[in-house]
Amino acid sequence: MVQREVRVARRAVLAGGLAVSAVGFAGLPASAAAPRVGGRAAAPSISSTSDWDARDASGEIEVLDSKPTKIIVHHTATPNSDDTSQSHAFELSRQIQDYHMDTNGWSDTGQNFTNSRGGHLMEGRHKSLAALQGGSQHVKGAHAGEQNSVSLGIENEGTYTEASVPGSLWESLVSLCSYMVSQYGIEPGEIYGHRDYMSTACPGDVLYARLPELRESVGAALGLAVVQPVTWPLLRPGAQGPSVSALQMLLGARGAVVPVDGVFGESTQRASAGVVAERAGSGPSCFGSRVAEPGLFGGLAWESVTPVLGAGARGEAVRAVQVLLTSRGRYVPANGVFGDRMVSVVREFQAASGLAVTGVVDREGWLRLLG
Ligand SMILES: [Zn+2]
Repeated sequence: MVQREVRVARRAVLAGGLAVSAVGFAGLPASAAAPRVGGRAAAPSISSTSDWDARDASGEIEVLDSKPTKIIVHHTATPNSDDTSQSHAFELSRQIQDYHMDTNGWSDTGQNFTNSRGGHLMEGRHKSLAALQGGSQHVKGAHAGEQNSVSLGIENEGTYTEASVPGSLWESLVSLCSYMVSQYGIEPGEIYGHRDYMSTACPGDVLYARLPELRESVGAALGLAVVQPVTWPLLRPGAQGPSVSALQMLLGARGAVVPVDGVFGESTQRASAGVVAERAGSGPSCFGSRVAEPGLFGGLAWESVTPVLGAGARGEAVRAVQVLLTSRGRYVPANGVFGDRMVSVVREFQAASGLAVTGVVDREGWLRLLG
C-alpha cells in the first residue's frame, strides 16, 4: 500500500518536472536557464507552535539576521505509525519538545520543522515559521551541530533504515523544501541528510537514498538547475574497502595504532570514535536517537583527518591518497611520497572530476576520492 503511494507520487513529480522543462524549451534559450530565475513556491500549510500547543521555550530563541544556506533532512527514528491524523502529528510534536527540553536539556524543540507520516507540517522551534515566512532571518536550532547556524532542520516522522517513505510524507517534504528554497534563495542542491555532517545513520538509508530525487523535485518545482553534491561516506561496523583502508592510514598519521586491513573493525572504530568526539560529531540530536550510535564514522569527522597535501608531502596520509587514487583507476605506488608523478596523477584526477587543477589534494579532492 505504501509502495503504491510512493510510485504514484513519483509519477506526479515526473509530470511536474516535464511541464517545467517544456516551458523552458519553448520560452528561453538554454543559456538563459542557468541563472536563478526566481520561480516561487506556494506556501504549504504549516501548523504553528500554538496550534499544537507547544510549551514556552525555557530560554531565549536565537533569531539570526541571516538566511540559512542549506536544509538538513532527519528522521525521528520513532515507530512507523499508521496514524496519519493531525492529532497524532500534534502529539508527536509535543513528545519531541518534551524530550528535547526535559532529557536533552535544550531550551526548546531542536529542529525548525516537523513532518508527519500523514503529511502534516508543523513548526518545531518557536519563531521558525515567522522567520521562514519573512524570508530574511533564521532561527538557530539544535539538530546538526556545527551546521545549526546555517541550516534548517526538518524532522520526518518514522524510521527509514528499511521502510519505504509514505507518499503523503514525501509530498509534504517536497512542498516544504520548495518553499524554503523559494523563500531564502537556497540552492536546491543544498539539501542534505544529517549523516552528511555527523556520524549518524539518520535519516536512514531509504530516505537518504531519495535525497537526489528530492533535490530534483524541488528544482523542477521552481524551474531551477540542480547540482547534486558530493558527500562524505558513512562507515559502519564491518564496512570494507579502500575508504576504510584510507581511514586507517589517516588515523595512523594522527598517531593511532590500527591495522591497515580495509575492514572497519573494533580497533578502527575505537580510534575513529576519538575523532568523532573531538567534533561533537555524534549525539542524540534527532528525537528518537535515544540510543547512541557507536561505531559510525562519517560527515565532518572526515574533515578532521584529511589534511591538505601537495608536492613534497610524506607519510601515511599521502599513502591514503595513493590507495584511493589507485581504487579510482589511477595507479600510483603506495610509497607515502608525494612526488612529481603523483602531482601529475592528481592533476589529471582533478581535471576529470571537474575541479580546479592544482596538483594539491584539498577538501574537494578528498571528497571526490572518498565520496
Ligand atoms: Zn538526524
